[in-house]
Amino acid sequence: MKSKIWLSSPHMSGREMKYVQEAFDQNWVAPLGKNVDEFEGAIQRFLNEDKFVAALSSGTAALHLALMQLGVGYGDDVICQSFTFSASANPIKYLGANPVFVDSDPVNWNMSPIYLEEAIKDRISKNKKPKAVIVVHLYGMPALMEEITEICNRYEIPLVEDSAEALGSSYKNKMCGTFGEFAILSFNGNKIITTSGGGALVTSTKEQKEKTIFLSTQARDSAPHYQHSEIGYNYRLSNICAGIGRGQMEVLDERVRQRRSNHEFYREVFSDIEGVNLFSEANTDFFSNHWLSCITINKSITTKTNHQLMQAFAEDNIETRPLWKPMHLQPVFKDCPYYGETVSEDLFNTGVCLPSGSNMTNDEKNRIYEVISKYEF
Ligand SMILES: *Cc1c(COP(=O)(O)O)cnc(C)c1O
Repeated sequence: MKSKIWLSSPHMSGREMKYVQEAFDQNWVAPLGKNVDEFEGAIQRFLNEDKFVAALSSGTAALHLALMQLGVGYGDDVICQSFTFSASANPIKYLGANPVFVDSDPVNWNMSPIYLEEAIKDRISKNKKPKAVIVVHLYGMPALMEEITEICNRYEIPLVEDSAEALGSSYKNKMCGTFGEFAILSFNGNKIITTSGGGALVTSTKEQKEKTIFLSTQARDSAPHYQHSEIGYNYRLSNICAGIGRGQMEVLDERVRQRRSNHEFYREVFSDIEGVNLFSEANTDFFSNHWLSCITINKSITTKTNHQLMQAFAEDNIETRPLWKPMHLQPVFKDCPYYGETVSEDLFNTGVCLPSGSNMTNDEKNRIYEVISKYEF
């Protein structure tokens, strides 16, 4: 059996252990310490805007605390991109609120500004003005931020960016994660950099960052005894994981280059194959970290399905995956309102995520090339 080629696996720089060792040496084996502070500082400098960063145990936790701080509560409506991973929508339900799903733009794959405005107007007409909009930069591709921020500003609805897959991506030279009132990042094992598990909330003010830390450490009032006036959570990132994160931040630029070069590899491989469309930036305003390289099969040109191609890869022990199944088609969200047509559904039915690790070797790329060149589209 040939060795497995993964979709996206952790890629250590070798410098992580130095920071983890430091934490052990100083016995800061806790959800606070120097690594947490330094990791937050490194992300803040990387985003290069007047933003603040709170390191948390996951991206999902970050989204929960963002929505909470926007006052989302029982019975409220929150608009969310349908074409995404469930973690973009679950925190809406944690708060007893109602997700309202919006379809995607066919070229950009992220939230369609047209359906977004249609959804906002219709919810307002039903006296249910949305409390927040969650936009996602899927697979690293920046969403249509100009149009989406304009709409959110015009209707005065706060914007939350799910930038879990898009650290290092930018739109018109402004980093993803710096457009919204809040943005979330994820350092799960398969993301562009990882802390084994972890996330961060990017906030617009220092007060929001302090509130985030307060809520994520059980909401203790400043009293010597344990006194609580609010419900808190145990969501802070550990100093050990943050040590991994410090080492990873030092190679983030390199990781972005490596993922983008995978995308160039696929561009060449598919250049003369009709019937396959490689998901790419529409123009130079968009800069994707290409966390995952993805394709769709053009059904008007070939009768082969995405599943047949995935099967060919599986036979060579190469991991691939369908695109995200839209939230409005998930059993758990089937009763939620949905605005759009079948853009995200068509993507789901025709797409494939290809191996995209920054640690992919030339031998592995050759194996991938072999499968594609032998496959009859
Ligand atoms: C990974 C991911 C999340 C959740 O991040 P965790 O750190 O795993 O909780 C949220 N949204 C998207 C789009 C993701 O890919």
